[in-house]
Amino acid sequence: MAARDYYSVLGVPRNASPEEIKKAYRRLAVQYHPDRNPNDPQAEERFKEVSEAYAVLSDPEKREVFDRYGVDGLKGRGFRFDPDDIFSQFMDLFGGAFGDLFGLGGARGRGRWERGRDQQVALSLSLEEAARGGDHEVTLSREEPCGTCGGSRAAPGTSPEACPTCRGQGRVAHSQGLFTIATTCPQCRGSGRVVRSPCPECRGSGRQHVEHRIQVRVPPGVDTGNTLRVSGAGGRGRTGTPGDLYVVIEVRDSPGLKRQGDDLLHEATIRVPDAVLGTRLRVPGVFGEVVVRVPPGTQPGDAIRVAGEGMPRLEGRGRGDLWVRVEVEVPKDPPRAVRKLYEQIRDLEKA
Ligand SMILES: [Zn+2]
Ligand SMILES: [Zn+2]
Repeated sequence: MAARDYYSVLGVPRNASPEEIKKAYRRLAVQYHPDRNPNDPQAEERFKEVSEAYAVLSDPEKREVFDRYGVDGLKGRGFRFDPDDIFSQFMDLFGGAFGDLFGLGGARGRGRWERGRDQQVALSLSLEEAARGGDHEVTLSREEPCGTCGGSRAAPGTSPEACPTCRGQGRVAHSQGLFTIATTCPQCRGSGRVVRSPCPECRGSGRQHVEHRIQVRVPPGVDTGNTLRVSGAGGRGRTGTPGDLYVVIEVRDSPGLKRQGDDLLHEATIRVPDAVLGTRLRVPGVFGEVVVRVPPGTQPGDAIRVAGEGMPRLEGRGRGDLWVRVEVEVPKDPPRAVRKLYEQIRDLEKA
């Protein structure tokens, strides 16, 4: 599980300056970097945690949301941490110096990043399904190492070779006046290896996509934009831990109910006598019909609150409310007998 308090992950106080946060991240990221801790899933998890913490705390907007509402607040706003960003974030901060730091030379970057990728699928639910929650199935086209080449990208019987352009370094140096600038090798794109005869099955990508059905437990009360994480259900890398699956919820509108946070709104139309005398209405609810008492003297546009008949609260107990907004239908062309009665009512009210 990812840690919940990003400040303690980085070991900085809540009022830490951007500089302090950057410094703490630099130190921890170097300490836990997978290249420095090969085959150590704990270090990899820590590396991921500090990277996630830094991604949030280094961004003033995300930091403010986190300060106020915590991790759930970030999730509620659709913020998702993509582990693919770890490397670009890391490279932004350390530049090309990282390889030299550990004397690793070429074998850096995405070529070495063998944890499975995080993947994302959408799950569409009706309002009623969102209210009930429970198990749902999603179909994931999961990224896995190619079964033929085992992810090496090379045709069976061959293997990748050191890139001739960068001699396996992954970077090439250009002289610019006094400076030497290293850039990612254009031939191997930084991996330091080239494949002479690509695997015919995956056409040299090293990956294949396999359909999986995955059970997702949906908590009652989810809303559009909520994201559920299924740990370890994402892509498979060549080695190391699998990625996570992020299930992005979409809740469809219901014909009779409009959602407003945890509350629900139903628009009803009643006749004049019912507005005057009061009545009972059967209105749709998320768990079946709800009977609503319309009090005598109800005015057009009045909203009647039915406590506890709204959506289950995702965070917290109980349910929101159901509001029934009432319009009153005035007959346009009543039959003669009805018209007569209205005339009588008018005469009576005049008297
Ligand atoms: Zn292959
Ligand atoms: Zn190269």
